[in-house]
Amino acid sequence: MQLSGNKVRKLEFLMADAVAQSADCVITIGGIQSNHCRATAVAAKYLNLDCYLILRTSKALVDEDPGLTGNLLVERLVGAHVDLVSKEEYAKVGSVMLTDSLKEKLIREGRRPYVIPVGGSNSLGTWGYVEAIQEIERQQLDISSDSTGKPGFHDIVAKGLGYALTTAEELKFVKEVAAATGVILDPVYSGKAVFRMLKDMNDNPGKWEGRKVLFIHTGGLLGLYDKVDQLAPMVGNFRRMDIAESVPRKDGTGKMF
Ligand SMILES: *Cc1c(COP(=O)(O)O)cnc(C)c1O
Repeated sequence: MQLSGNKVRKLEFLMADAVAQSADCVITIGGIQSNHCRATAVAAKYLNLDCYLILRTSKALVDEDPGLTGNLLVERLVGAHVDLVSKEEYAKVGSVMLTDSLKEKLIREGRRPYVIPVGGSNSLGTWGYVEAIQEIERQQLDISSDSTGKPGFHDIVAKGLGYALTTAEELKFVKEVAAATGVILDPVYSGKAVFRMLKDMNDNPGKWEGRKVLFIHTGGLLGLYDKVDQLAPMVGNFRRMDIAESVPRKDGTGKMF
């Protein structure tokens, strides 16, 4: 859903529930660059539901226009309503109270809101992952097996500096993986997870040797736009083209010849 990721798996079930309950709008909550909130905003639009996002930002920015960087551009293009809260407010009352109070407000206005929890992570949403694994099995990928011959699943917990905080080393790693493979990892989750996975492969080679590894890339590309200031010194590679004045004109085909 406008650059997708794992969150659409959960939304497939959650949005169906919203429609089944005759909701006319959905409410969800997350960080200022939440991929889940972006995917929800687009999914809601596809289903002709209004979308209310509660986004957590710093105290210094909570009264400002949140701008159009990354996920925010998509959310605002599709017309999601954005309510900003500070990290302190979020920590004080918690996501459930915040979504519930917006829900009560909308009900008083005669709306029929459906609340999706942080990340879409509840028991209903988890069915999306059950289906994802079945899909992998159907594709008959030879996924890594444990000693019983069954696939072994590992959730790589790689918090690093903390949620949405990226070290220069991790960002450099994201850049190196992109330059080496064409695969763009995301700064919040997959970049840290691959970083730790490769580190573990180096530190504990015996654990990984001879195994086939399927790494599930969970999306999150748009979050990288929030890191452009940190990335700028690592990219570069452009120059003004040097065209000799003596080069004659030669038309090509197509509109731009
Ligand atoms: C949310 C998110 C995750 C974590 O997924 P959960 O389903 O919330 O555990 C991983 N990667 C990306 C890019 C995400 O946005």
